[in-house]
Amino acid sequence: MDFALSPTQRRLRSRIVEFARSSLGADAAGHDRDASFDRAGWDACARFGVLGWALPAEYGGSGFDPLTSIIAFEALAYGCPDNGLVFAVNNHVWACAIYIATQGTDEQKRQFLPGLIDGSVVGAHALTEPAVGSDALSITTTAVRRGDSYVLDGTKCFISNGPVADLFVVFARTDPDAAPHGRLSAFIVPASTPGVTVVRDIPKAGLRATPMGEIRFDRCEVPVRQRLGAEGAGYQIFTSAMEFERGFMFAAQVGSMERILDGAVAYAARRHQFGRPIADFQAVSHPIADMRVRLELARLLLYKVGWLKREGRMALLETAMLKLYASESLVDTALAAMQLHGARGYVADLPVERDVRDALASTIYGGTSEVQRNIIAGLVGLPSARER
Ligand SMILES: Cc1cc2nc3c(=O)[nH]c(=O)nc-3n(C[C@H](O)[C@H](O)[C@H](O)COP(=O)(O)OP(=O)(O)OC[C@H]3O[C@@H](n4cnc5c(N)ncnc54)[C@H](O)[C@@H]3O)c2cc1C
Repeated sequence: MDFALSPTQRRLRSRIVEFARSSLGADAAGHDRDASFDRAGWDACARFGVLGWALPAEYGGSGFDPLTSIIAFEALAYGCPDNGLVFAVNNHVWACAIYIATQGTDEQKRQFLPGLIDGSVVGAHALTEPAVGSDALSITTTAVRRGDSYVLDGTKCFISNGPVADLFVVFARTDPDAAPHGRLSAFIVPASTPGVTVVRDIPKAGLRATPMGEIRFDRCEVPVRQRLGAEGAGYQIFTSAMEFERGFMFAAQVGSMERILDGAVAYAARRHQFGRPIADFQAVSHPIADMRVRLELARLLLYKVGWLKREGRMALLETAMLKLYASESLVDTALAAMQLHGARGYVADLPVERDVRDALASTIYGGTSEVQRNIIAGLVGLPSARER
């Protein structure tokens, strides 16, 4: 077993950290305060190739192997203090573009991937609905076949990038009478399609530089050639793509954890109380040691997922464990950093309180912690919620 990065991966990591520190996140506080999308940061990411790292070279991407993609996205989050921008990018890649790259026809890839890779098209993923979250198989948005088209009707909510998106991957019911796993289909829907409306922006506690919206599909006609995969294959597509979302998107949590750890170490050495650095107090140094342990364990899970995907193997259990552990660890690390910064951690002068607000979302999106525990419990042989 070799845990070392290759020289090429090490060089790539340094180059990305340098890019992220020098070109991104200078006004992270402003974008957080105004809940505004950082279009300049997005364009800088696109120019640097970020949006295409994990996507095929023949459409303009870099075609990184899974482990290299993970290392790259981890480095981006480590170097960029704007978690909202990093989430917008990750959501675009792992919840939208990757669906087309892995499940799309050649025609769909030719039509949609170049824009998603060069950044001229912002992607989003539309599954959740006002009445349906964790129980994805129960969504009520319908797609009714009419000749060469499907007509989509329904409302999606909590859609990251939604208000600025140019393209949605949308899940809808094609056959209400089919067994639950054959009920759903996935569609590629440009935002310019008649009937697509952003109903409202949704304000939120953190990740405020990632716009979030409620999107309505009202008698929205989508050509059959924009269906992803076979009719009724939506749930299988979702489950296999979720391995990417839960695996690769959480590289960013690992990068953020390392950035928060570095900040905590520096502050504990710099801040003096009772005539010495607060790092001298075990009550301060031990939580920092715990941050380091969490970082290491999350990274081991992350790299194992990268290795499994590089080998072309399934990683349902490993991605659920990674998603659960990395998100809960990030919350614990961000809260511990806030505590050791005292009042400075709580007020908005430093990014510490923003990191806490941003971290809290990660135990919810991509399937809540409870849902990940259900998946893990199911995979160790316990009955799933649906079977009970
Ligand atoms: C920042 C952010 C970004 C998001 N981006 C997107 C996006 O781009 N596209 C999209 O489609 N959705 C998105 N979502 C929505 C997200 O996927 C859902 O919030 C998530 O799936 C949970 O659904 P819910 O919020 O409706 O909660 P519910 O499903 O209503 O759950 C409420 C609570 O009950 C618990 N619960 C539910 N069922 C069970 C069970 N069987 N066992 C144990 N506990 C259970 C949950 O864990 C949770 O604690 C985003 C959410 C957030 C916070």
